[in-house]
Amino acid sequence: MTSSAVPVPDPAAAPAPRLPSPLQELSDDRFGRRGLRLLLKRDDLIHPELTGNKWRKLVPNLRAAAGRTVVTFGGAYSNHLRATAAAGRLLGLPTVGVVRGQELAERPLNPSLARCAADGMRLHFVDRQTYRRKAEPATLATVLRTVGAADAFVVPEGGSNSLAVHGCTALGAELGDRADVVAVACGTGGTLAGLAAGLPQGGRALGIPVLKGGFLEASVRALQEEAFGARRGTWSLDDRFHFGGYARTTPRLDAFAEDFGARHGLPVERLYVAKMLYGLLTLAEEGAFARGTTIAAVVTGRPFPS
Ligand SMILES: *Cc1c(COP(=O)(O)O)cnc(C)c1O
Repeated sequence: MTSSAVPVPDPAAAPAPRLPSPLQELSDDRFGRRGLRLLLKRDDLIHPELTGNKWRKLVPNLRAAAGRTVVTFGGAYSNHLRATAAAGRLLGLPTVGVVRGQELAERPLNPSLARCAADGMRLHFVDRQTYRRKAEPATLATVLRTVGAADAFVVPEGGSNSLAVHGCTALGAELGDRADVVAVACGTGGTLAGLAAGLPQGGRALGIPVLKGGFLEASVRALQEEAFGARRGTWSLDDRFHFGGYARTTPRLDAFAEDFGARHGLPVERLYVAKMLYGLLTLAEEGAFARGTTIAAVVTGRPFPS
């Protein structure tokens, strides 16, 4: 008999994920009357606590961490920080969140950071200048030393690295040829980079950036080059639907999201998903898609708090 080994938590096995995520057809006249089919790829249903594209991005990273402390970065309302904290709790890995904004240290935690803390994430607040320079080796080394995790496994802000991009190829593979165009909201672009690479020939990925600045084209290209050694798949960006930038909104966008949710019985996440759906509807109204096109919209997450 062999002695019993300590089981290594398997991030994929511990919380049973719902994969492939469901694909649902919506009946929405605004698309239907233009001869378009609209499908929702429900990545928000993958896991109750580790939702959406964050599951696809984080699981390969946590596997690679192999028990080491996971250190990552985010703003005061970061979906990525919450997902990392949840993953750490579910899998028994220590996590540290480096949060932008020294001043936050003196205030009560907002609901997002409170959730991170409740999931066992150690929060470390840094000033904006340090945060901006977090990828520089000297700054990073200082941060890791300060949090007492010199040998930590570091996941970049937003969780987009080569492992995450590879994890997101499964999204494209699951969709296969069920859709002609697949739309996804983009923060750092890691999900789009993997999705586009995973789609079969003839499939097209459309990214809707939720941040302002026009830097995403270069980011997605760099992520694909790092992950695959070259650009992969067919993808493009439409930069018109950021509504002023991250977490910015307008009464028009709010009304759209409210209405979409009511029509389809779907809670519409506002930071990303609402902007992507709004962009799709605008493009449909502009005649950007030929009649007979099947569009899949990736629901990358749920509202918080839900
Ligand atoms: C993080 C997130 C995204 C963006 O993913 P990237 O890979 O950074 O582009 C999209 N939607 C939701 C709901 C998210 O939480």
